Amino acid sequence: MQAWSRNALRRGRSIGFVPTMGCLHDGHGSLVLRSVRENDLTAASIFVNPLQFGPREDFGRYPRPFRRDCQRLTGWGADVLFHPSPAEMVPEGLTTTISVNNLDKTLCGPLRPGHFQGVATIVAKLLNAVLPDRAYFGQKDYQQLKIIERLVKDLNLPVRVVPCPTVRESGGIALSSRNRYLTTAQKNKANQIFAALQWGEKLLKSSPYYASSALNTVKKLLKQISGSRLEYVELVDAESLEPVQALRTKCLLACAVRLGKARLIDNLLIEPR
Ligand code: AMP
Repeated sequence: MQAWSRNALRRGRSIGFVPTMGCLHDGHGSLVLRSVRENDLTAASIFVNPLQFGPREDFGRYPRPFRRDCQRLTGWGADVLFHPSPAEMVPEGLTTTISVNNLDKTLCGPLRPGHFQGVATIVAKLLNAVLPDRAYFGQKDYQQLKIIERLVKDLNLPVRVVPCPTVRESGGIALSSRNRYLTTAQKNKANQIFAALQWGEKLLKSSPYYASSALNTVKKLLKQISGSRLEYVELVDAESLEPVQALRTKCLLACAVRLGKARLIDNLLIEPR
């Protein structure tokens, strides 16, 4: 992978990079298409990262439709796919890990111990393999995006992180590889997650100093989704990811909901008026 990238860089070509875990959908597609627009060459990776799954999570059954993914990448115009084996990426004796502190103290962090350390370690390795000028990350995984931005800044990695907006289905549900675990009825219910966040945004914008009351309303709406279990709903500062009591700065309203066999996360960025 490095040989391909070095060769391209020597010829003065810019490289855009889209890291993924595969089971590609149009959300991934939006990142690849943007990279193709903004760079001479686009590399994508498919790697289901064992380090970011907890012991009781879905690593084993995470969907891996590899041939279909390759076709989609070709259709979107990617130039190269990096598809390393787990043994290459996580060899026995891997003892160096990367922790981005503080940003993992809220939202998904406490519920998925070790998750963001696994993400940061593998993304750093992928960036070292692909040597891109720009790397594209979705705002759907907002906490991950902020952690990668900080990793790149703190370690002076020579790459520009490009945040990309969440792509949704017409009903509102954010596209996700894990939507495959949902039945049609559950998918319809999952649309209510975005609707609840939007309602929260409306309340926060009209009463920015009553964040806890808005948050309670969103909590109630999310708990009403039948067959679901709310893991968290939080309002945090969009940069520090620390909880806030009022909408004074740009904030993130974010939640995680379990529905059937899926754990769904979603969020909305909210700017004060
Ligand atoms: P994943 O394969 O789930 O690890 O995601 C790979 C990249 O695609 C990450 O940067 C995600 O944030 C991004 N992504 C996933 N779903 C969406 C979506 N619905 N809209 C935009 N980006 C997304």
